[in-house]
Amino acid sequence: MAHSIGKFVPGLMMDSQLTVPTILQRAATVYPQTTIQSRCADLTVATHTNAHLYERVLRLMSALTQLGIRPGDTVASFAWNSHRHLELYYAVPSIGAVLHTVNIRLFPDQRRYVLEHGEARVVFADESLLAAVIEAVEGMANPPEVVVMPEGPTLTADVPCGAHNYEAILAASNADEQFPNISENSAASLCYTSGTTGEPKGVLYSHRSLYLHSLTCCMADSLGVRESETLMPVVPMFHANAWGLPYSAGMTGAALVFPGSHIAARPVADLIERCKVNCGAGVPTVWNLLFQHLLHHQHDISSLKRVICGGAAAPRALIELTEQQFGVEFLHAWGMTEISPVGSACVLKAADLHKPLEERITLKTRQGLPVNGVEMRIVDDAGSDLPTDGNHFGELVVRGPWVAKQYFKRSPEDPEFTSDGWFRTGDVASIDASGYMLITDRSKDMIKSRGEWIASIAMENALASHPSVLEAAVVARPDELRGEAPAAFVVLKQEAQPVRAIQLISHLRNSFERWQLPRSKDIHFVGALPRTSVGKIDKKVLRGQIKDAANTSQEQLASSD
Ligand code: AMP
Repeated sequence: MAHSIGKFVPGLMMDSQLTVPTILQRAATVYPQTTIQSRCADLTVATHTNAHLYERVLRLMSALTQLGIRPGDTVASFAWNSHRHLELYYAVPSIGAVLHTVNIRLFPDQRRYVLEHGEARVVFADESLLAAVIEAVEGMANPPEVVVMPEGPTLTADVPCGAHNYEAILAASNADEQFPNISENSAASLCYTSGTTGEPKGVLYSHRSLYLHSLTCCMADSLGVRESETLMPVVPMFHANAWGLPYSAGMTGAALVFPGSHIAARPVADLIERCKVNCGAGVPTVWNLLFQHLLHHQHDISSLKRVICGGAAAPRALIELTEQQFGVEFLHAWGMTEISPVGSACVLKAADLHKPLEERITLKTRQGLPVNGVEMRIVDDAGSDLPTDGNHFGELVVRGPWVAKQYFKRSPEDPEFTSDGWFRTGDVASIDASGYMLITDRSKDMIKSRGEWIASIAMENALASHPSVLEAAVVARPDELRGEAPAAFVVLKQEAQPVRAIQLISHLRNSFERWQLPRSKDIHFVGALPRTSVGKIDKKVLRGQIKDAANTSQEQLASSD
């Protein structure tokens, strides 16, 4: 009898589960000597290997069980990037529990909110962050237990009454714990959005989504994590799975370097030199400050071959500085907490590699091509597709195996999720004929002036291309005639020539129409820009300052009447 091949379904392939512990098991078997270097509080560097990591993870799994953690329970971390945080990344999901990486920069009430909402049973806190955790859990109806993690070989003070010492519980547990069977669809980790408005929203990741996301980040034409590289995630491990890099490093055998709490330009430069880092990952501010520092201070960063930059738009001036002055390859990526986070990466297509330098740099300012597994469209207000010709822009919607279907403990009918299964990112973007996506703005950051849109990111990039400007942020100011008008906050480089507002406006004339330009008095020179909890420029604060200034002048007018 003839078989119809398509109908031969049962048992086609093995049903191996895509889970977090399988990454560690392979890393320890295939790359046991790969190193994990971690900066301690006193600036020394502790070195471990994947073999050590494996043994300590087994002990931690056993310690977690002794603390009463069962599959499905939540364990929170409140920590900088370190080898101990990496141990939690593996051990908690390996016993079927969920690792909630709490953003250490949340406001105290948000900290408490996410711990309660996430139902943490235990919190693992770095010693230097312990006070914040104690403050958050005090007075809770069911406070989680607290485990204190040293930021060096040992703790520097006694653990408070009732808390546990991380190294002591590891030493007291055994290293022959077994890995239980886990379904790839069970929850492995939890992260909350930075929540600049309203309560932070939780995103629950499955083993499968983490596995597939991290695997994609290893692809040469996405983040390209590889065994021959020493990788330094400066992006915090409490922000969107540190872009999947800790697991991608496990999958490929890449060596890891963790900066601990020392993420300013000088210690990062020092760490690159000391640990021979080949690739770093972080938000634009990290790289801007680092390369500005390197312009004036001597460090041997010859090991550094590339940086991965995401979380906010990378200004052209930063890409030029990185590539042209330092010969370091710049990889621009885009993502969101809801997307695990990586959605696109700007790796140039072969056809673009030989284009003139200027054009290549222009391409690199784009957020790039969707990574394998992520689908992207741009849509108008009615949800209809817009042409992908690089000229139309609309809301970016995405879907894929590591894109959230709903927020944790919220309705799948939240407006961010379309009824036909797409996630509305809130980012405004264009996609060109070659598939490169360019974020023009966050929809709420666009400036509507005389009925036309001005993209704040484009104006920020233009300002940042002025030789005296370190960084700039542009927000909308209410304007009686124009509806809205741009207001710019500008930080000048320390050693730069002084510059006046009128000079910056004339610089903007190269790329903007007259009606789009800010007035001189709307250019504010500031010492620093406010930051969100994950290091991005906090435009909400800047908008607040504009509003306050407007209210004050209204009051002054009223009192002079
Ligand atoms: P978060 O979930 O905190 O990582 O924030 C996600 C948001 O950051 C996105 O929706 C974008 O608005 C912004 N973002 C991330 N990466 C980029 C990028 N490369 N360029 C422009 N915006 C970005």
